[in-house]
Amino acid sequence: METPAMQQNLAGKVAIVTGGSRGIGRAIVLELAARGANVVFSYAGNAAAAEETRAAAEALGVAARAIQADVASADAAATLVDAAKELGGVDILVNNAGITRDKLAARMSAEDFEAVIATNLTGAFYMAKAVLRPMMRARSGAIVNMSSVVGIHGNAGQVNYAASKAGLIGLTKSLAREVAGAGIRVNAVAPGFIATDMTDAMPEAAREATLAQIPARALGEPEDVAHAVAFLVSDDAHYITGQVLGVDGGMGM
Ligand code: NAP
Repeated sequence: METPAMQQNLAGKVAIVTGGSRGIGRAIVLELAARGANVVFSYAGNAAAAEETRAAAEALGVAARAIQADVASADAAATLVDAAKELGGVDILVNNAGITRDKLAARMSAEDFEAVIATNLTGAFYMAKAVLRPMMRARSGAIVNMSSVVGIHGNAGQVNYAASKAGLIGLTKSLAREVAGAGIRVNAVAPGFIATDMTDAMPEAAREATLAQIPARALGEPEDVAHAVAFLVSDDAHYITGQVLGVDGGMGM
């Protein structure tokens, strides 16, 4: 696919995207690649999906690396940063990897709570910490954390997930304050209801109930989120930091 030159506004940059094999992360990998960025992305275990995404990114004319690495492990961050350095540095980090383990709080195990926090929140902290040094040295960088409308409004059955996504907003704003003077911007995106494997797994009744709460009366597509991320990591957003951008058809108003 040929991309108009005016869209190649990330040419030569190197991006790390966690959870890039499927869904929203895949769309982000391809959007950043279409804009000229070389991309290193992680995945949990779906090697076939990761290879498909990697090949699709390279078909756009950039270098792409897929690395199996659990974001909840502190070592994963160093592996991804090393891979990005091999491609030239770390300009962009998108903390996208996320999981759900839904249950009403009364029935939720401590393990279900901790696993979601470890992947969605602690993993983002490890990644952000690992990219800070190279970004500070370069006195430039852009980080986007994938929150959720659920992190702002809450959702029955998701105390673990909502806590992780609300935590990401606190992380985003605190880190944005710490590193703005070093030329690094940190923002969050809060998607509403996006059509991916994650939402496909929802029971039909829950899907219908959620759809009824969306003013736009439609699910979003992964590309809708990817466009918002691509804007936030670009120089067009150079004066934007510490923000939470809803991509939700009005659901989060
Ligand atoms: P998805 O379709 O389930 O894909 C999840 C991705 O994350 C996959 O690439 C998966 O890799 C990877 N992953 C999962 N656990 C990981 C781990 N421990 N380490 C590394 N990678 C891991 O999810 P999605 O719907 O695209 O969601 C992406 C992000 O957007 C998540 O943070 C989610 O919370 C957030 N979000 C989604 C929605 C929505 O409506 N879909 C709404 C708001 C926010 P494998 O392919 O190897 O499994």
